[in-house]
Amino acid sequence: MTSNLVDSFGRVSRKLRISVTDRCNMRCLYCMPQNFTDWLEQENILTYDEIHRLASIFSKLGIERIRITGGEPLVRPRVERLISMLSSISKIRTISMTTNGLLLGEKASILKQAGLSSVNISLDTFKEQKFESMGGRRGKDKVLKAIIEADAVGLKVKVNTVLVKGWNDDEAADFAKFARDTGIVVRFIEFMPLDGSGIWRSDLVVSKTETLNRISHEVGALIPVSTDDASEPATLYSFIDGIGKVGFISSMTKPFCSNCDRVRLSSDGKILTCLYEEPGYDVKNMLRDGQSDEDIAKFIQKCMKKKPEGIIKLIKTNSLRPTLNYMHKIGG
Ligand code: SAM
Ligand code: SF4
Repeated sequence: MTSNLVDSFGRVSRKLRISVTDRCNMRCLYCMPQNFTDWLEQENILTYDEIHRLASIFSKLGIERIRITGGEPLVRPRVERLISMLSSISKIRTISMTTNGLLLGEKASILKQAGLSSVNISLDTFKEQKFESMGGRRGKDKVLKAIIEADAVGLKVKVNTVLVKGWNDDEAADFAKFARDTGIVVRFIEFMPLDGSGIWRSDLVVSKTETLNRISHEVGALIPVSTDDASEPATLYSFIDGIGKVGFISSMTKPFCSNCDRVRLSSDGKILTCLYEEPGYDVKNMLRDGQSDEDIAKFIQKCMKKKPEGIIKLIKTNSLRPTLNYMHKIGG
């Protein structure tokens, strides 16, 4: 299907990330401030009917894949209802979710039945104490159980790990061994300046090269695996014996801005064409003011034209600093 979501750099969007809540049951140090409670008012959050309507409009403009995210998407009550509503949109090929996994174990089967096809589960450490100090809550075993449960019910599972220098970079090899033991792909994400707490510094970023060398040295040699999807942000590697795959999202050292095919919808109804775009373009009021699907579609296309070049520009112009935006509000 041809997409009508083309930006001024010629990039075409086919993936929509929908943040269903700004709330979260964790406080990851690279994402949300520890004492954060400044939540959006309930009436400012899009309802499931509103999200469904917008997703239908987006699908007519060429969106084929949806990812549900947050905050923590599973803290929003009955999110499976939304997944089932989105599944009924004929042009949407896949619906996936990014979650911290704390509430996933009990819901995995119901989410799969509702139409969820895959889940990215965030896990940064295998040590309970560190889980608490990095994530602000206990629950490492719950997340590990959820990974097994999600896999068992037939969801495609990947693990997302943000490495932060001096915090959990010493566990890179353990994650690689986990990928070998379970067959689940672990993707290492470079720490981006989207931290609510203002702690980001360039020397806290653990680069792909560093992690790759560490794993090769401590676990075994890795070889690149080719993928057909140029817009896939992770470069995938396999161990030389074919057992276990890891991916690297080099969001800081090799940004994928030029292949970006994403657009985001925040929980309070703002369109964000880039992670580093602030404050986004409000569509909630268009919905609530009774504007037509055609007018909203035209507005979305206009927003897309304004999509910035991305973090690559901020790097080139030496403009990096902490808290360029709030990941927990955008949804990653
Ligand atoms: N709460 C869910 C979770 O943690 O998976 C979904 C939302 S979270 C914002 C989405 C993803 O963004 C997670 O994999 C998380 O680790 C990642 N993330 C959050 N802040 C980040 C940062 N500053 N740099 C890189 N990745 C980050
Ligand atoms: Fe919550 Fe996810 Fe942010 Fe952690 S990364 S604080 S789990 S939204």
